[in-house]
Amino acid sequence: MSERTLNIAHLYPDLLNLYADRGNILTLVQRLRWRGIEAVVHEVTHHDQPRLAAYDLVLLGGGSDREQEIVGAYLAKHKDEFARAIANGLPVLAICGGYQLLGTYYQLPDGRKIPGLDVLDMYTSAGTGLPRLIGNVAIETEYGIIMGFENHGGRTVHHHQPLGKVLHGHGNDGESGFEGVHHLNVWGTYIHGPLLPKNPQFADAVLATALAYAGHSPELEPLADDTEALARRAFLSRRMPDVNLS
Ligand code: GLN
Repeated sequence: MSERTLNIAHLYPDLLNLYADRGNILTLVQRLRWRGIEAVVHEVTHHDQPRLAAYDLVLLGGGSDREQEIVGAYLAKHKDEFARAIANGLPVLAICGGYQLLGTYYQLPDGRKIPGLDVLDMYTSAGTGLPRLIGNVAIETEYGIIMGFENHGGRTVHHHQPLGKVLHGHGNDGESGFEGVHHLNVWGTYIHGPLLPKNPQFADAVLATALAYAGHSPELEPLADDTEALARRAFLSRRMPDVNLS
């Protein structure tokens, strides 16, 4: 039995799991295991009641408009609990469709609005006749360069701190030059691919935050990450040669 255990909730894995978002969970669990830290993953489907007090980290993945509409209705039932937990420092990582659902609303191309959790002062609209924002993306962040893939119709506007500055790709709205959000212990981003295997330094920052939230020491023994470094260099040189890693 390890001294430190982390409870990770994967919310709606049956509905929000685009572009291998499940790989983010595998990365978190494996990076903990390599340090002898136990991880318990709670797969919370729409049949279950989320128990936010029992989790040290919550992950919301991406999904299509259709799935978002279904998830939006479930999340609406837990709005107050989410608001309280997040204000209390609950770490949340939300990707693409999940990211959009943290805001006030996501407006569909037909004009209807899916209400979000409203934990961020942020909204997203798909607009009509606008192209989707698709392609490889790299951003400059406090965790170094984060890279991956984006594919979204929605344009997100907020005045919180962004996760990073766009070096390549589109980001939040294709115009602002910013990508994602970082507010309290909440990170939102359009980056799939999945996000965490390609960005181990960010994965560790999320884990350290979750360990601290759980009342454990956030110290994480460094890992070699040679394969990850090789993959990052290859990805940049082949797909985004305009981005310099060093
Ligand atoms: N439905 C959203 C959009 O296209 C989110 C898509 C996703 O999660 N990739 O904007």
